[in-house]
Amino acid sequence: MTQTITVAKGDGIGPEIMNATLKIIMAAGADIKIEEIEVGEKVYLNGNSSGISKDSWDIIRKNKVFLKAPITTPQGGGYKSLNVTTRKFLGLYANIRPCMSLHPFIKTKHPQMDVVIIRENEEDLYAGIEHQQTDEVVQCLKLISRPGCEKIIRYAFEYAKCYGRKRVTCFTKDNIMKQTDGLFHQIFNEISRDYPEIENEHWIIDIGAAKLADTPEAFDVIVMPNLYGDVLSDVAAQIAGSVGLAGSANIGEECAMFEAIHGSAPRIANQNKANPSGLLQGAVMMLNHLGQSDVAEKVQNAWLKTIEDGIHTYDIYKEGVSKKRVGTEEFAETVINNLSKNPDSLKKVVYKRDIKLVLPKYCRKQQMKKDLIGVDLFLHWNGLEPDQLGDLVTQLNNQNVSLSMITNRGIKVWPDGFSETFCTDHWRCRFKAIHSTRISKYEIIELLNRAANYNLDVIKTENLYHFDGVPAFSLGQGQ
Ligand code: NAD
Repeated sequence: MTQTITVAKGDGIGPEIMNATLKIIMAAGADIKIEEIEVGEKVYLNGNSSGISKDSWDIIRKNKVFLKAPITTPQGGGYKSLNVTTRKFLGLYANIRPCMSLHPFIKTKHPQMDVVIIRENEEDLYAGIEHQQTDEVVQCLKLISRPGCEKIIRYAFEYAKCYGRKRVTCFTKDNIMKQTDGLFHQIFNEISRDYPEIENEHWIIDIGAAKLADTPEAFDVIVMPNLYGDVLSDVAAQIAGSVGLAGSANIGEECAMFEAIHGSAPRIANQNKANPSGLLQGAVMMLNHLGQSDVAEKVQNAWLKTIEDGIHTYDIYKEGVSKKRVGTEEFAETVINNLSKNPDSLKKVVYKRDIKLVLPKYCRKQQMKKDLIGVDLFLHWNGLEPDQLGDLVTQLNNQNVSLSMITNRGIKVWPDGFSETFCTDHWRCRFKAIHSTRISKYEIIELLNRAANYNLDVIKTENLYHFDGVPAFSLGQGQ
């Protein structure tokens, strides 16, 4: 059945590369109908700070599949990123970016590179929950959820299975962030057991990123939380040849969005100069997603043949390697002329038919036993001597709850801190139950009351829990 897709031609070079992309996939026999919407600069400048109207949302939600050209986000003025909003509103939890070398036709130091970055797309620091708490300290909340981890990690293994990939690597920084990145790593270990035929490994992100930049051929599929994935997928695309050649898929349980990874390049707009390859790569992923793998394969092989023949737009044109410098339209015409051809030296792609990934719905686990055993009070305090603050805050102790530690930016400064430790005006005071193993919510309220009476400026609290008897909070550094 012909599938209707939503198309947004975007801003800058968007209309040119979208027209070229649609022309190629239609010529290849894509069985799609197009419903166009307007998003981006014009909508923003008409006073809509999200860059998209309600009617356009309705169309996207009805059609489920969205092919989007890059848009220009006007500078300043509180305009929200349409990409982030779309991903989160539509629950597009998986971002997939294949980064493959096209050596020797596109210059790269990594001729063997063929990596797929699978990035969690909805949570982590991108929840965008930020607050200024004291004169000197602002905070961004890093949220990692079990469903978020399970969905993206299972997606990575299913992707590897469907596309014949051998190994899935996980990148985290769980040596430092034991709760958040620790959960991601733990769930990676749990889910990898369901895929014994696929190798799995974990790298700490810093050395993993260094290895990826140096020896990308050592990796196959890499799955990681949102921020790391955002950074490393651009690095991977760039070292494979150019960010201008990479496309990305944003996949959710209901909807999906496909795009190029580059922006709207306003300086080269309307000059028939832009390379449509990034968006075309997004469209190839869309065709696979729609179950039109035969068309996807035809387009991809024609594109590889065009690159291999040295028919290049200005951004990838290299004297001695390229044969002809062409504009957007001529590049598209050449791909269309190559539609029944395969590359000679680059590897021809063969896609499995009907590679729609079907993932199980998330099932909530049985509730854990949750015991409240203390509370962290965060204070705005302008003093400099931790011992002085210790004396002040110890006054809040009662027979059941007492101060056990003070940290500043995570490092323990009381009791027995170091005079060398630099302190800001943002202090965490940890109170714990003394006799019983638990405290009640009322004891926290009483603690806050006493703090107010002593004129202590509490800026937030965090409850300390044991889940199934296991402490579920980090210790102070140096504790
Ligand atoms: P950009 O990706 O638009 O451009 C970076 C450089 O790459 C420029 O030199 C540009 O000319 C070149 N380039 C990009 N795409 C190209 C192509 N297809 N062919 C040839 N050359 C190409 O990044 P930018 O300049 O930082 O951003 C411009 C605008 O795009 C901004 O308003 C930004 O907010 C927006 N943007 C949108 C998206 C999106 O919609 N997905 C992504 C990134 C940036």
